[in-house]
Formats: sequence, structure tokens, C-alpha cells
Amino acid sequence: MNIILLGPPGAGKGTQARHLVDGRGMIQLSTGDMLREAKDSGTEMGNMVAGVMARGELVTDEIVIGLIKEKLQGDTGGGFIFDGFPRTLEQADALTRLMDAEGQALDHVIEMRVDDTALVERITARSTCGDCGEVYNDKTAPIPADGKCSHCGHTEFKRRADDNEESLKTRLMAYYKQTSPLIGYYYAKDKLGVVDGLGDIAVVQTSIAKVLDA
Ligand code: AMP
Repeated sequence: MNIILLGPPGAGKGTQARHLVDGRGMIQLSTGDMLREAKDSGTEMGNMVAGVMARGELVTDEIVIGLIKEKLQGDTGGGFIFDGFPRTLEQADALTRLMDAEGQALDHVIEMRVDDTALVERITARSTCGDCGEVYNDKTAPIPADGKCSHCGHTEFKRRADDNEESLKTRLMAYYKQTSPLIGYYYAKDKLGVVDGLGDIAVVQTSIAKVLDA
């Protein structure tokens, strides 16, 4: 099964993708993670996108489509979870073409709805495990008192450079201007399922499972 998790920054796409990886053996394809990796390892492309990402703008369609194309040609595992891709109509069309070429199909697009005030609160309190990427929140899901990641036991945690109010405004604007048209696009393709992303992680997980197993 191949699915897209669609939603604004902070909607919980990454957290839910991780549960689907653990629970269903799916493969998470996060273009954000791929771009951060390129940036951290100082590749030419990574250096090129660093400023754009720090400001919270979208990198070019060409770059992210290229990243996804490479992954689709590899192991397909229990199916792909597209997390943070596509973010524009051009990327969505490209994904259809790439999947057709690989004899793959998209099964579901899950829109995760969360109100904007909650997004700002979530993002400015967010940190992740430096090793496995488990997501923590200073208020609602703090790092365990023993300082060890509950998922992998690692003891270093990081905060994303673009998880600040200034970049978040630009990221939200990019979502509403460039990405939210995908909701109508996938509704018209009969692929859209909507879940309330605001509740407890386990409740959201159950709502997603209901859409996938319907
Ligand atoms: P994310 O981790 O998904 O929040 O992505 C972090 C940043 O990477 C975004 O704010 C964009 O600058 C860039 N990015 C990630 N995915 C895409 C995409 N599909 N299209 C354009 N830019 C992207």
C-alpha cells in the first residue's frame, strides 16, 4: 500500500509515519529528512537549499522530484509513506507519472487537520531524538526524565533550525498557498481520507488505521 500524509507543518505527519513504519513495515519517504541530510553532509545540493529551508520556503520541484524518483526505484518494502511530498500540484503530477512508470499506484491520501494555533504551539516546543528521530514536545510529550529516548535509548536531542515562529509563518503560508490545493486534487481523484490530527497520538493512529483498512 502506498500513501501520502498531507498536512501543515506540525500536523504530526512524521510521528504517524514512524508508527506506520514500525507497525506495517512501510517505508517513510520524507523529502524534508532527505534535504536535511544533504544539508548536514554539505553536498552541493544541500548547500544550495540551506537558505531556502531556513526561511521556510519550498525548494524547487525539480530537486524534490529527483529525490523521490531515486527512492521509488529502490526497495518497495511494505509500501511507501510519502511524508511532506508532494507539496505542489506539479509534484503531485510528477508522482503519478513516476509511480505509473514503476507499475505502482497510490492507495490513500490522508489529510491531517490541525488548527493553526495548535501548530505554532507544537512546533515551537518540538525536539527530536538525534539518532532515531522520535518526536518529543516540551509540554505534551517531554523527553523522559532519565534523558534517554524512549524509542532507542539515545541521549542527544535536537531542535530543527526552522522550528521558530518566523520560519513557521512562511512555512504555513507555503502550505496554504502551494500545498492545500492538493486536498481538492486528491478528493477529485477519490483518494482523500481526512483525520483529526489534534488528538492524542494513539487516537490519531487509530483514525489513520481506519482509513487504511476500510
Ligand atoms: P519538512 O521536514 O517536511 O517540514 O520540510 C522541511 C523543509 O524542507 C520545508 O520547509 C521546505 O523548505 C523543504 N521541503 C521538504 N519537502 C519539500 C517538498 N516536497 N517541496 C519543496 N520543499 C520541500
